[in-house]
Amino acid sequence: MHIAFIGLGNMGAPMAHNLLRAGRTVSVFDLSAAAMESLHSAGARAASSALAAVREADVVVTMLPADRHVRELYLGEQGILAHATGNALFIDCSTIAADAAREVAAAAAERGLAMIDAPVSGGTAGAAAGTLTFIVGGETAALERARPVLEQMGKNIFHAGGPGAGQVAKICNNMLLGILMAGTSEALNLGVAHGLDPKVLSEIMAKSSGRNWALELYNPWPGVMDNVPASRDYAGGFGSSLMLKDLGLAQQAAQSAQAVTPLGSLARQLYQLHTQQGHGQQDFSSILRLFQQKS
Ligand code: NAD
Repeated sequence: MHIAFIGLGNMGAPMAHNLLRAGRTVSVFDLSAAAMESLHSAGARAASSALAAVREADVVVTMLPADRHVRELYLGEQGILAHATGNALFIDCSTIAADAAREVAAAAAERGLAMIDAPVSGGTAGAAAGTLTFIVGGETAALERARPVLEQMGKNIFHAGGPGAGQVAKICNNMLLGILMAGTSEALNLGVAHGLDPKVLSEIMAKSSGRNWALELYNPWPGVMDNVPASRDYAGGFGSSLMLKDLGLAQQAAQSAQAVTPLGSLARQLYQLHTQQGHGQQDFSSILRLFQQKS
């Protein structure tokens, strides 16, 4: 089996590395030459374009930033769907709008190609360790074809429903994550403003009813935990601009279903402000800095 992997950023690169480690034949493509080089030296074939990567692939995995990139890559006469082999399977792991995922899946179906949306949870650490959670939308038969490949990059695979359902579930999760990260930062900042040690306060809350993932596994306060972005000046990880995108997708989804999401809306505004202040490329746990500002 020949796999094409397109989009070798913070997430895509470690995922593609895991496929290589599992002995897969992988062709890679990214707009960044540096990203390509790292995979090439690990044994991947460096394709000259996305179309060249997919032309001989049985399975195509894409991991791109947002709707726009996915639409541009997949659709139209220069898109990868138009240049795939007859029974190629497409797995889009990007987090994008459910409507965009449905549009691309419909375009694949029109060409008789199988496709699933398979956004992930677990962050860059999960991508590196091969322990990602895949949240899949699409036909059961397509998921079963994808399963052996997904299992080499993750450990949990959920089938949320038909095309786009993976994206809906993912956006619900990330809206909650954005709210929890902002709330955790706010609480830690309040305690520290009263002279508490952030590490001690984190331990107290982690054993109390305020415990949550952001606090326990991805603490936003520098130095409280090793091996998290907060302890390396918020480098790597999940960018604030990507969190802002996801919170925007959640508001879009809320509007189309007329669901009430006031906390998600506030979290989106906080990330908007934070990104405008120049922190878009920093990990989303850097939202702490918004609370640390002194007037
Ligand atoms: P990233 O910005 O680090 O990487 C995206 C990569 O896609 C870049 O290397 C870019 O050069 C490449 N790219 C863009 N357009 C391209 C094209 N047309 N052809 C080839 N390559 C192209 O983003 P990331 O952090 O890897 O996230 C990717 C997706 O995964 C996003 O949708 C994000 O929301 C989601 N996600 C990220 C995390 C995380 O912790 N970083 C966790 C879960 C989900």
